[in-house]
Amino acid sequence: MLQCIPTRFEEQRLAALYRYSILDTPPEQYFDELTQLIAAICDVPIALISLVDSDRQWFKSKVGIEAESGPRSTSFCGHAIHQDSLFIVEDAQADPRFADNPFVTEEPYVRFYAGSPLVTDDQQILGTLCVIDRRPRHLTDLQQLALRTLSHQVIRELELRRALYLADHRWTLARFKRRLGNLVRSSLDLDQICQLAAQELGETLEIDHCSISLCTEAVALCSMSHYVRPEHIHHPIQWHLPDTLAEKALQQDQAIAFDQYPAEKAPAVQSPQSLLLVRTSVQDRANGLIALAHYSSRHAWTSDEIDLLESVAVQLGLAIEQAQLYRSVQAANLELHQLAYTDPLTQIPNRRAFDETFAELWQTALLHQQWLSLIVADIDLFKTVNDRFGYEQGDRCLKHVAQTLKTGIRQQQDFIARFGGEEFVVLLPNTDTDGAIAVVTKLQERLAQSDTTQLPVLPTLSFGIGSVIPQPQHTPEQLFRVANQAVRHVKDHGRNSFAARLLATPE
Ligand code: GH3
Ligand code: MG
Ligand code: MG
Repeated sequence: MLQCIPTRFEEQRLAALYRYSILDTPPEQYFDELTQLIAAICDVPIALISLVDSDRQWFKSKVGIEAESGPRSTSFCGHAIHQDSLFIVEDAQADPRFADNPFVTEEPYVRFYAGSPLVTDDQQILGTLCVIDRRPRHLTDLQQLALRTLSHQVIRELELRRALYLADHRWTLARFKRRLGNLVRSSLDLDQICQLAAQELGETLEIDHCSISLCTEAVALCSMSHYVRPEHIHHPIQWHLPDTLAEKALQQDQAIAFDQYPAEKAPAVQSPQSLLLVRTSVQDRANGLIALAHYSSRHAWTSDEIDLLESVAVQLGLAIEQAQLYRSVQAANLELHQLAYTDPLTQIPNRRAFDETFAELWQTALLHQQWLSLIVADIDLFKTVNDRFGYEQGDRCLKHVAQTLKTGIRQQQDFIARFGGEEFVVLLPNTDTDGAIAVVTKLQERLAQSDTTQLPVLPTLSFGIGSVIPQPQHTPEQLFRVANQAVRHVKDHGRNSFAARLLATPE
């Protein structure tokens, strides 16, 4: 038996076939009428519009058989597409090429076959319009003419549909480009831009999956946004773009298009059937990668789609650059802010931070008529620590005290700062004198129980508490003053203790 072999320009032929997006589509009346008509004209039981895929023949329309497709290797159409004129086998049993073909020896017992190739404008042969009989036959000139003419009708219809699709598609693409351009100009939110781009690319091009990744160095890609076609949302895509391919795509300006992506050798995960990759870049420096994929069927990428992707990549490249600059400015500002408000030695907030927070908490307490307590904590006889052990050891003690106090307060509400030298301040919103005394007691316990193995000595502290429900006549400075008076009192009466004062309401 003569096996089918691929055509001479098989890759181009398949690319042409896929660009019509007709494989695996439902039956349609227009094509069914053509097959019925040719079956009647040729007086045969079977007529097909057969499209020859890489390893199968698939029937867009069929009369007289149930099957929707068959293997290419033993098909008659697989032979018919090697020539651009009618291919006729009048008696397959008498033809050594086909006598032992399973289509001849078994169902549907083909004896007669005549196929007219479906030739595109660019001379690619997609398949055939063919007629089949179970007995030897001869076609009249008129029947042959009808077969040729109707096969031209099939191609004309396919070309017409494609032209309509492209016109519609172009309009959609133009609208999409405009929308993305507007967003890129008006937003610095990279997540939002990438998400919109992925979503719109996915929907506009009707693909299964679109991902946009950013890269800072050559291949270090971090995934930003994904679009997954709604039908696939429950089957997460596990396939990962191979590094070598990502690297290649990042190095070149033009898109890399696979109409037929080579399947994984060990298919643990489903790989895409068609893939389109293009980098985003600024001044020839790649900063991201866009990947579009079809998983459920093969797709021939059109030049329009590739053009769109390349122009989206240009816009996104700029957007990524702008947004990354904006982010680094924000990060620098944050760092500056932290530097300005943090005490470098103890790494807790400094006096500037305290002044601002005190003013805010004061206003809140005034507004809601709530208690506000302020603790001033001063290390006892710290000068002697420095004198005995040196400043470095003194610093170590300061850091230890700061960190211990910091972990002893309520992290969400309370606020601690180094006021200066060996003096700390703690603000306790919504806390009266008893509450503040409880906090001081807890802090003393924490200090006493803390791990002092790295310290030359564990200093004690004197605590002064000031509490108030602020009134309009009060000022924060007054509360600070009473807390300081309380500390002074403790210092004058032996240190290592606490005292509490209320800020009296003026008469
Ligand atoms: P008192 O119990 O009365 O508060 O005695 P004191 O020695 O703690 O108070 P004084 O105000 O006389 O001295 C405070 C000392 O704190 C002076 C200085 O040596 C020390 N000090 C202030 N800031 C730092 C610092 O950043 N590092 C170190 N190691 N010591 C500091
Ligand atoms: Mg002091
Ligand atoms: Mg002191």
